[in-house]
Amino acid sequence: MPLSEFGIIERYFAGRELINPINKLGIGDDCALLQVPEGQQLAVTADTMVEGVHFFAGCDPYLLGHKLLAVNLSDLASMGAEPVAVTLALTLPKVDEEWLQRFADGFLQLAGRYSVDLIGGDTTSGPLTLTVQALGVVPQNGAMRRSGAKVGDLIFMTGHLGDAGLGLKIRQGYDCSDPGQALCRFDSPEPRVKEGRAIRGIAHACIDLSDGLASDLGHILKKSGAGARLWWDKIPLAASVKRYIEETGDWTMPLLAGDDYELCFTVAPENRAKIKIPAACIGVIEDERGMRIEREGRISPLTKKGYEHFS
Ligand code: ADP
Ligand code: MG
Repeated sequence: MPLSEFGIIERYFAGRELINPINKLGIGDDCALLQVPEGQQLAVTADTMVEGVHFFAGCDPYLLGHKLLAVNLSDLASMGAEPVAVTLALTLPKVDEEWLQRFADGFLQLAGRYSVDLIGGDTTSGPLTLTVQALGVVPQNGAMRRSGAKVGDLIFMTGHLGDAGLGLKIRQGYDCSDPGQALCRFDSPEPRVKEGRAIRGIAHACIDLSDGLASDLGHILKKSGAGARLWWDKIPLAASVKRYIEETGDWTMPLLAGDDYELCFTVAPENRAKIKIPAACIGVIEDERGMRIEREGRISPLTKKGYEHFS
């Protein structure tokens, strides 16, 4: 007989000791209970992944569990919040115990690494849909917002741009001679929690790169009422991404592709020495609205759909 809803919860998700002291009551009651310490605010976010929309049917459930949690922790990281707890709403077409075990392993392994407890959720049947709500804490008024960028701020990003975009191209059939790093970054992003914490109080604005730099930096610009200039030569690209660009001529891919889950943030130039994490300075916030990119001695307008034309 297949496991019931309660059997699934018991076997794969419940019965773990709470590890984060903020969590006072976990799975098993109608609600979980948290005690937010004085002087801290609760940061809350949710993301849904739908089979065929956000992930390929038949993909590795361990990696799926990891990525589902990672994308949510990444939202907490970009505000400078410390992850504390998550809830998991699972809609499953059928009870596949091997799938559930691997999914839970991938999910809970990452949760453990960040001292995040799974404190509740919901389990239903239907088309495969996975929703996580993540809760974090951040010192009162200390969260980094999209709206804080100031004209003259330098724009920084962690990691490389376009690795996950290349990973997706590889999954779609692009023949890459060293696909390892790109696939790993696409399948198994690491939320930049440490980095977000390290730039809190230093960065004026921050966002995580989920939809692509052009789109996500665009959100900072819109909320901050400013524009930006990017320097192509300063954008950190992995060797495999450089090779992809040489082979295809598709140099805007890293700017437009999503799923990198790196942090993009702005810092006043006089504070750049305070940045104690590896990050590349890729541009500057300007008064002139819109996004521009300097490349090979030319300045091209860049929109979230890509560059428009060479000027
Ligand atoms: P209710 O009907 O009161 O909403 P449920 O019977 O759906 O509660 O769930 C029982 C307990 O199991 C609750 O504490 C709920 O948060 C938890 N839970 C349900 N599904 C999951 C899941 N997929 N992951 C973690 N906890 C879950
Ligand atoms: Mg109830």
